[in-house]
Amino acid sequence: MESLACVIHNKMDLRIEKVLLGALGETQVSVRVLAGGICGSDLHYYLDGGFGTVRIKEPMILGHEVSGTVEALGSEVTKVNIGDHISLNPSHPCGHCTFCKSGQQQHCLDMWFYGSAMRVPHSQGAFRERLITEEFQCEPVGDSVSFGEAACAEPLAVSLHAVNQAGTLMGKNVLVTGSGPIGALVIAAARYAGAAEVVATDLHAAALKKAAEMGATRVVNVSVEPGLKKEEFLSDKGYFDVAFECTGASPVLRAVIPVVKPRGTIVQVGLTGDVSLPINGLVGKEISLVGTHRCNSEFPLAVRLIREGKINVKPIITATLPFERAVEAFDLARNRKAQMKVQLSFKDLCPEWLIYQTEYISS
Ligand code: ZN
Repeated sequence: MESLACVIHNKMDLRIEKVLLGALGETQVSVRVLAGGICGSDLHYYLDGGFGTVRIKEPMILGHEVSGTVEALGSEVTKVNIGDHISLNPSHPCGHCTFCKSGQQQHCLDMWFYGSAMRVPHSQGAFRERLITEEFQCEPVGDSVSFGEAACAEPLAVSLHAVNQAGTLMGKNVLVTGSGPIGALVIAAARYAGAAEVVATDLHAAALKKAAEMGATRVVNVSVEPGLKKEEFLSDKGYFDVAFECTGASPVLRAVIPVVKPRGTIVQVGLTGDVSLPINGLVGKEISLVGTHRCNSEFPLAVRLIREGKINVKPIITATLPFERAVEAFDLARNRKAQMKVQLSFKDLCPEWLIYQTEYISS
């Protein structure tokens, strides 16, 4: 069977092409994809042909944040039924390496992750009408939420994983720098985890409006305010117990160190290149600077929180375009001043598709 897919050939060369659907294995599920969110990594492949040393070396289907319905089952599948709405877990760990055996599948030595050029041949992605996946990668999400919301499970799981790096947040003062899609979801996850105060920063008013909708108790526009240089944040060796640095900008990380309390934690969520840091500030205040990578057991939790309405992801979805207009959608997603999560819809493909946007935010 043929299926249309969104294939990146090179920097700024994104095409809608027919790809073949393989045979269904005994433990596999055929999924009709219905919604897919464009992630920062998809954008990097589109805009730059990759990131860091990871480059596109062959055509690759993009996408790893998708949801859909189950269309067919392998003979041994028991977890899902035909017609189930599912969020797709993009991680396919090997299951037998040292990290998989110790329950740290996010560090698997032989990971297949949808839409990733980290290995060659590349791990093909999920922006396609149909795909065949492993049963364990399908997480039933119920039919009370939209496919768009269900497609937010992976970025929410990444945010929950980040929150899990910080220890308990109950009653804590939390800082989230950068209120893009991941920052916004970290805010919601931190509130869910019991943070008393969540201060969110960004350069754009539209993003901060979303941050407030996602649960930030206070927002700081660092383009017009002194931001983290406020006396309130700096006095008594710092104001925040925990900071989630989601911008990946080194000046932001440097500015975070003075506002974190002694023995506090900074979780570096945003990716960045080499940076220089005022390391004495870290050492002198006994601050823990920790990383966070993708997600693991947080994926089913994220799906449950979306399904049960415990975390409302809707505010971050700012535009939905038909899959056939993927190039336009990617160009729209570049506009970080106006857009949060741009999604593709794979429903009823037809030429009459009109752009429909849940909300077009502008600052
Ligand atoms: Zn493994």
